Amino acid sequence: MKIYSTLSGKKEEFAPSGGEVKIYVCGVTPYSDAHIGHAMSYVIFDVIRRYLRYKKYTVKYVQNVTDIDDKIIDRANQLGIAPSELAKKYTDSYFEDMENLNIVKAEGDVYPLATEEIPKIIEVIQGLIDKGHAYPAGGSVYFRVRSAPDYGKLSHRSPDDMRAAECTIGSGEKEDAMDFVLWKATKPGEPYWESPWGQGRPGWHIECSAMSLKYLGDTLDIHGGGQDLIFPHHENEIAQSESFTGKKPFVKYWLHNGLVQLGGDKMSKSLGNLITIKEALKKYSADALRIFILSSHYRSPLTYSEEGLEAAKRGAERLLRAVSRDDSAGGKGEAFDAESYRKQFIEAMDDDFNTARALAVLFDLASAINQACDAGVSIGNAQSTLLSLGRDVLGLRLPRIIYGQASIKVTGTLTARGTVIPGTVNTRVHRLVEERLNCRKEKNWQRADEIRNKLAELGVILEDTKTETDFNYKSVPSEEALDKFIAELGL
Ligand SMILES: [Zn+2]
Repeated sequence: MKIYSTLSGKKEEFAPSGGEVKIYVCGVTPYSDAHIGHAMSYVIFDVIRRYLRYKKYTVKYVQNVTDIDDKIIDRANQLGIAPSELAKKYTDSYFEDMENLNIVKAEGDVYPLATEEIPKIIEVIQGLIDKGHAYPAGGSVYFRVRSAPDYGKLSHRSPDDMRAAECTIGSGEKEDAMDFVLWKATKPGEPYWESPWGQGRPGWHIECSAMSLKYLGDTLDIHGGGQDLIFPHHENEIAQSESFTGKKPFVKYWLHNGLVQLGGDKMSKSLGNLITIKEALKKYSADALRIFILSSHYRSPLTYSEEGLEAAKRGAERLLRAVSRDDSAGGKGEAFDAESYRKQFIEAMDDDFNTARALAVLFDLASAINQACDAGVSIGNAQSTLLSLGRDVLGLRLPRIIYGQASIKVTGTLTARGTVIPGTVNTRVHRLVEERLNCRKEKNWQRADEIRNKLAELGVILEDTKTETDFNYKSVPSEEALDKFIAELGL
C-alpha cells in the first residue's frame, strides 16, 4: 500500500512503526455547527481507518476537541452564555452529525477535550522551557522557533519567508516575531487555569502535541487534517513534539485533505458561504453525501454543487438497487464471481486511498450484478462483495430492501437478505402489481396510475422497465391497508 505524505511530497510505501497503526486527526473547535468542509475531512479519515481495519491492521485513533479558544470565547460573549456551555452544545452537535454520517467511533478511539488535558499540556510546556525551546514572557509562554532548525520542513517554507509573513502581527513580548504562543495569559472575564506561569489557557498548537503524546506516544504513523492546517498548525506541532521528545520524526505520514469550495471560493465562516452538515442531510442521505465526497481524490479540492450531489444520490440508488435485487437463481446453477472487482477495488485503495476509482469499481460491479441477474445467473455472492466493500470500507449504509419482480411467482415468505417482508404482505403487493400490469395492457391508464400512487403512499415504489414492472419497499405496508385498497378496487 502506498500513501502520499505532505512531508516528503511523494507516495511512500506504507510501513507502520509498530503493531498498531497510530492515527491522530485534528478535531473541531466547537463554536458553531459543523459544515461540509468538516464532513469531507472526517469522512475521508473515517474511510482511511475503515480501510486499514479491513486490511486487518489494528488502528488506534485519537481526535481532539478544542473546547477552549478565542472563537468560542467571542461567540459565547456575543450570546451572553458561558464559553463552556457553548462548547458543550456544539461538541454534542458535532458528534450527532458524525453519527448521522455513519462515521464510526471504534472501541479504544479517544476524543479528548482540551479543557480536560490541562495537566499534560502544562507538563509538555514545562519540558519545552526546561530544554530551552520555550520561554515565559508577560504571563504567557512562547515557543522559540529559532531552536528548531528544521522548522518549515512540512510546509516547505524558509524561516525568512515565515518571518516576513509574521512581522506585522508580532507581539512586543516575543523574542522573535516567528515565535508562537503555547500558553496564553488570561484576560479579564476569560476562563483560565492555574499554571506555573500564572493564570491562563493553552494555545491551540500545543494541545495537539500534548494529546498525541499522551494517547499515542512519541511517534505517530498517520497525522491528518485539512490542507489549511499545514501551516502554521502542523508545522508548529512538529516543532513542539520533536523538541519535547528529541525524537524524529514525530509523524511518519502526513495526510492532508483538499478543501471544499463553493463557486470557486473556499467554504468558510468568514466568507459566509457555509453549508452545514445538518442542512445537507435534510436534502441528501448520508450515503449520497459520502459518495459525493469520495467521488474525487481526497487531496483534491471538492466543489460543492447540487448537481454533484444529485449525481451522488443517483449513484447511491444504483448501488442499493443492485444489492437489493432478488437472487432469483437462489444460489443454484451458474454463479457470478465478483473477485476481480474486489481486487480492483483494493488496488485503487492501496494507491493512496483512491476512493474515486474504488467507487467506480463498485458502480461497474452494480451494473454487472444487474446484467447477471437478468441472465438468471446467481448473484448472491457478488451482492455480498458489493455490500462488504460499500459498507465496511466506504462506510455506506446501503439499507437493502427486498426488490421483487412482478413476473416472479411468490411462494411462501420472502426472507431474503435485509428487511424481511412477510409473505402475506408480499402476496398482496404482487396481486396489486399484477392488476396494474393488466390495466396497462388494457390501456386503462387511470386505474394503473391509481394503483401506482396508492402503493407509493403505502411505501412500495414501482419501476417500469420495457418488459416488466419491478418494485421495492421503502417501508412495509400493513396487511389491513392493502386489503382495504384491494377491496376498493373490487378485486
Ligand atoms: Zn492539531
